[in-house]
Amino acid sequence: MAFKDILGQDQVITWFKRAMAQGRLASSYLFVGSEGIGKKLFALNLAKVLNCLTLKDGDACEICASCKKINADTHPDVLVVTPEGQTIKIEQIRRIQHTLSFKPAFAKKRMVIIDNAEAMTPDAANAFLKTLEEPPLNTTLILIAQDKNQLLPTIVSRCQIVRFRPLPLKIIQKVLKKKGLKEDEATRIASLAEGSLGKAMQLLEKQEELKIALLWIRSGVSVRELLASVEELAKNYQDQRQLFSFFDIYQGLLRDMLFLKKGIDEILINQDLATELKTLAESLSIEKIQKKIELLQEAKKLIRQNVQKRLVLEHLALS
Ligand SMILES: [Zn+2]
Repeated sequence: MAFKDILGQDQVITWFKRAMAQGRLASSYLFVGSEGIGKKLFALNLAKVLNCLTLKDGDACEICASCKKINADTHPDVLVVTPEGQTIKIEQIRRIQHTLSFKPAFAKKRMVIIDNAEAMTPDAANAFLKTLEEPPLNTTLILIAQDKNQLLPTIVSRCQIVRFRPLPLKIIQKVLKKKGLKEDEATRIASLAEGSLGKAMQLLEKQEELKIALLWIRSGVSVRELLASVEELAKNYQDQRQLFSFFDIYQGLLRDMLFLKKGIDEILINQDLATELKTLAESLSIEKIQKKIELLQEAKKLIRQNVQKRLVLEHLALS
């Protein structure tokens, strides 16, 4: 992915292209804007453009050794710091500073990206301030944050601030349609995404999860279709966290159905699906729904014990 592929941030791109052409890049930047609108993507692309060996119309070529290394996240001079657990710790900043005390391995312009800069502990932030005060040669420092007011004022004042705007609805809509969504569904998700492509993708994923969970609840679904859904989950959900997020959605639906069975419809998690869930609830007994919830709890336990994912999911889907 090059500058030309970044969506909805034309202003920022034009501005940087001009700054680069005039040779007046600052040593430190603070990228501000909401989650999932392309700040980190832009930073990585800037690193590519600054180091590309065969620039094409001022954009990264994507095929030279430098571009490839950055794309593969193996470039020794493009250093990305993200929170370890909840915070960015002083040890992480010290490691970066240690690396910066040497010359770049082969970059023209080395880059340090502090993603989620708000997550720096006070110690980490103070340590990084030293780097901002005496920026190493041939190095661009980029801090990424959603809200600059959560950073130390001394840090903010050392950086040139670049604001990233939420993406227009139309752009998000277009991406969703490219992913195969129908017009009205693309519009619905895009309008919930608040200008964030990242959020749109999360919503899309949730949509897929809902679809599968509903399939597992519906009666009369063929075994072949159920197994295909298991296959899809097992393939796409490599890590446990994702799988548990699916379990949460499944459990939420079952819980709502139990409430609906008892004539309670004010506290549904999936209020938007109330009508569909009511119909589904009519086809299942309370005992059957409770049994499904029990099996789900059991499945969670088994997944935590590292029992083969596919087997657990099959059992759950087919029961
Ligand atoms: Zn290149």
